[in-house]
Amino acid sequence: MAADPPAAGRPRLLVLGCGFGGYSLLYRLRRRADFDVTVVSPRNYFLFYPLLASATVGTVEFRSITEPVPRRLSGVRLIQAAAERVDFAARRVACRAAVGEDRFEVPYDLLVIGVGSGVADYGVEGVLEHALTLKSVDDARAIRKAVLDRIAEAEVPDLPPAELRRRLTFVVCGGGPTGVEVAAEITDLIDRELARGEPALAAAARVVLVEALDRLLTGFDEALAGYAREHFLREGIDVRLGAEVASIGPRVVRLAGGEEIPCGLVIWAGGNAPLPFVRELGAATDERGRLVVDGHLRLAGHDDVYALGDCAVDPDNPLPATAQAAQQQGKYLAAALRRRRRGGEPPPFRFKSSGMLAYIGARQALADLPQAKWSGRTAWLFWQSVYLTKLVSNANKVKVLFDWFKNSLFGRDMSRF
Ligand SMILES: Cc1cc2nc3c(=O)[nH]c(=O)nc-3n(C[C@H](O)[C@H](O)[C@H](O)COP(=O)(O)OP(=O)(O)OC[C@H]3O[C@@H](n4cnc5c(N)ncnc54)[C@H](O)[C@@H]3O)c2cc1C
Repeated sequence: MAADPPAAGRPRLLVLGCGFGGYSLLYRLRRRADFDVTVVSPRNYFLFYPLLASATVGTVEFRSITEPVPRRLSGVRLIQAAAERVDFAARRVACRAAVGEDRFEVPYDLLVIGVGSGVADYGVEGVLEHALTLKSVDDARAIRKAVLDRIAEAEVPDLPPAELRRRLTFVVCGGGPTGVEVAAEITDLIDRELARGEPALAAAARVVLVEALDRLLTGFDEALAGYAREHFLREGIDVRLGAEVASIGPRVVRLAGGEEIPCGLVIWAGGNAPLPFVRELGAATDERGRLVVDGHLRLAGHDDVYALGDCAVDPDNPLPATAQAAQQQGKYLAAALRRRRRGGEPPPFRFKSSGMLAYIGARQALADLPQAKWSGRTAWLFWQSVYLTKLVSNANKVKVLFDWFKNSLFGRDMSRF
């Protein structure tokens, strides 16, 4: 099939995904006359992942960290759908509507793939069946409900102590930033809300953090990661380092050494894996299944296709799978595409790290910046101020600030529905 002719005047720029990479690109092109811009995304909102762990226990509300695309990106055509296949020769993307059964194709002159990543289970049996993951608002909502369900189950009178403890044991698998933050948030919920209303249940509850490597937070400075571990031990979190998960069953985590941890809830925060759409694209990938791009974020072998964020890698300059990397790539690509449209050749992409932050609970955080590294209460205040600044809209900045203020005064809402 021959490629569709370019739309009259402006080239059709099709962006797949509206996450950190896609949104950053679209935001900069939204009112420009250079391209006829369409985004295909199963969600009609941008999700601010850095506060998603906080949403699992109601420290912030879900709607405080989502930005509706139609409102924020006026000028960009949104199609709520998932891309299923790309016909690179015909320059068409086959899509499945997010709601309903419709299937259709969207033509493009330039394509940007920014679909993010899925969850890596590393072949561990039972992850998909018996554990919850944290990649979406639905996931965060499921965790919030499951935590409150386990508390409800623990209120049954006259439970044997071992059964009470099992129901209130929350196991988090994965000691990276997501696992650490989820463990911290659930511990906050137990220590601040459950302890106030149902102290006997709070005394029986525990959080277990399981990590296969011999340290937490491998991307962070070693001393800060050590601080997080000591802080967790002080807070009563059972940190298991060098503990490989062999399998997960219904309400049980089995470790490679043979130990079984009976539990009420398992949360899997094991890392990223390529999405089926990326795996089946037929484009060059690295050993981890990420799309190979050059220094200008061009897909190997395709001059009119770009990829950015978690789904892509430049093998000469591999980057961490972070929001800041995807965001910088989106910003770069907006400028590069405009420059190329004017006949110029943009310089290659350069990443500038602004450091990393992680919440570790009890109003403490880690700040690992190029210019300074510190932990504790001031790092938490810094963490709050950075994320408040980075939230996209003023509406969400106010909502998150209000959530924090409200919860510090009145506690988190424990209503179960
Ligand atoms: C819980 C959590 C906390 C995190 N915290 C931090 C942090 O504090 N700091 C940090 O730097 N990074 C953090 N990250 C990592 C960061 O969020 C990612 O690296 C970043 O979102 C990657 O951006 P992206 O644009 O590649 O993908 P995403 O932001 O995931 O966006 C992908 C988009 O593609 C869409 N999509 C998926 N499939 C399709 C399809 N088939 N067709 C069309 N669209 C599709 C999705 O709906 C989504 O809109 C966190 C991640 C998680 C999960």
